Amino acid sequence: MNAKLTILGCGSARPTYQNSPSGQVLDLCDKSFLIDCGEGVQISMARLGVRTSRLYNIFISHLHGDHCFGLIGLLSTLSMQHRQQPMHIYAHADLERLLRPWLTYFGEEYTYEIVFHPIHPNRHEVIFEDRTVMVESIPLKHTVPCCGFLFSEIHRQPDGEGGFVRVPHRRYAYCSDTRYTETLVERVRGVDMLYHESTFLSEHAHLCKNVMHSTAAQAATIAQKAEVGQLLLGHYSARVDDHELFLNEAQPIFPNSRLSHEGETIEF
Ligand SMILES: [Zn+2]
Ligand SMILES: [Zn+2]
Repeated sequence: MNAKLTILGCGSARPTYQNSPSGQVLDLCDKSFLIDCGEGVQISMARLGVRTSRLYNIFISHLHGDHCFGLIGLLSTLSMQHRQQPMHIYAHADLERLLRPWLTYFGEEYTYEIVFHPIHPNRHEVIFEDRTVMVESIPLKHTVPCCGFLFSEIHRQPDGEGGFVRVPHRRYAYCSDTRYTETLVERVRGVDMLYHESTFLSEHAHLCKNVMHSTAAQAATIAQKAEVGQLLLGHYSARVDDHELFLNEAQPIFPNSRLSHEGETIEF
């Protein structure tokens, strides 16, 4: 079965009519992973018919509002839907410290348990693993601690000595938010699909340094150096209305680039 990626939001910090902040659902090996949860993510899910009951666990790249302000609303809705299964959230340790008072105040009668798994955004390590899927953190360079995620479908193959070796199969790397950093290249080498933020066009490249974001051309350079299957652009600055401009800057460097569009599901 193919992996499926549904784009819930692909804007940057300021929501616009056109774009909600970051959110994606990855369907891999019969499990649905929510990656980032900006404001409006649950509304996008409802609009697109993504079943919240299928959500398996949640990965938050960093604690900027455009990546986590949607969480409290979503967690509340899951309780209204009588969720029973625990929800596991993988994020910087501060998320629990911030969210617990809200959960205590609003969530006394939540129907399910919320389990926080603190991650160390500066370390590359395996943060989740079961029989079929492995998730590794990918340290990124941003204004606050931030990491991307590498999702790998795992196949178990006999090792010839009665045991098994785990062979990565389909792989998806999510890298948002980050300035251009070549350390990423080895981390994401050869993945089937790479999402790399492309907040700015080259004409705004001078803004990247302070806010630690990337241009579409920089995202394409990482994709080209890492020889990935395809590149998905997103986290578009609200100052750019015509997203084709991002694609026009990426494709000459890495032809197999595409835009993320909200509401679109991509199979790979
Ligand atoms: Zn962001
Ligand atoms: Zn950010």
